[in-house]
Amino acid sequence: MILDQFNLSGKVAIVTGANTGLGQGMCVGLAEAGAKVVGVARRSCEETKALIDEFHGEFTEVIADLSSTDVIPVIVEETLKAYGRIDILVNNAGIIKREDAINYTMEDWDAVYKVNQKEVFFLCQAVAKEFIKQGEGGKIINVASMLSYQGGIRVPAYTASKSAILGLTRALANEWAAHNIQVNAIAPGYMATNNTTQLRGDEKRSEEILDRIPAGRWGTPADMQGTVVFLASHASDYVNGFTIAVDGGWLAR
Ligand code: NAD
Repeated sequence: MILDQFNLSGKVAIVTGANTGLGQGMCVGLAEAGAKVVGVARRSCEETKALIDEFHGEFTEVIADLSSTDVIPVIVEETLKAYGRIDILVNNAGIIKREDAINYTMEDWDAVYKVNQKEVFFLCQAVAKEFIKQGEGGKIINVASMLSYQGGIRVPAYTASKSAILGLTRALANEWAAHNIQVNAIAPGYMATNNTTQLRGDEKRSEEILDRIPAGRWGTPADMQGTVVFLASHASDYVNGFTIAVDGGWLAR
């Protein structure tokens, strides 16, 4: 039956940036659908764990700084140690640094690129190797942005890195489809998290943004849950290399 295809019981998911915001919302959604979740973050994920404990879901944290690729083998090993396999990877961790393009520093450019691009590719590669070893396929879900489609203002490295997520998602989907690995992405719209605190604090910008969202509200971490569960489940087995916007209609304007 169709709803059974969305059931993630017995599946193991890695979610990066699991302590807060969209990552936390996706951890809860995946766990509610039955997955065992390994949350990766720089800081403790105790809040995420408490939310999942409420319905007796499974959650383990791995503390790691994703600005270095050295942590990648540790994330894979810790997941295998905790739950014995990997079925789903959600590359959610991301950073944004705001500055006029004319003054943007190489330090800020590199910092954004390390987390939003380099880490994403090499974690995909490491997890795909496990998927291929296990021989049962797998699901990779990258997190893109409205700035995968638009230029934005004062965030050149973020826009470049998130635009590249669309291309990377397609490239990996092509190479790994033969192994029954589906690589897709979610492009969140304007969501109420730490990432947008500055924007929401600026009355003028906040009003301009809200006026342009057909749904008439900022998105929430819970808004990500249906799409991430779909892309993590058998219900999306013939969806490859595509980015789904969860944006209250922003791109439709
Ligand atoms: P957030 O700032 O609340 O969360 C970012 C997460 O990434 C946190 O868990 C943080 O700990 C983690 N992270 C950042 N750098 C890290 C590092 N070096 N090592 C380990 N973890 C690190 O923001 P969010 O809105 O929840 O963002 C989640 C994702 O969604 C990001 O990729 C972001 O770019 C993207 N996104 C957000 C919005 C929005 O409006 N909030 C819109 C589009 C895309």
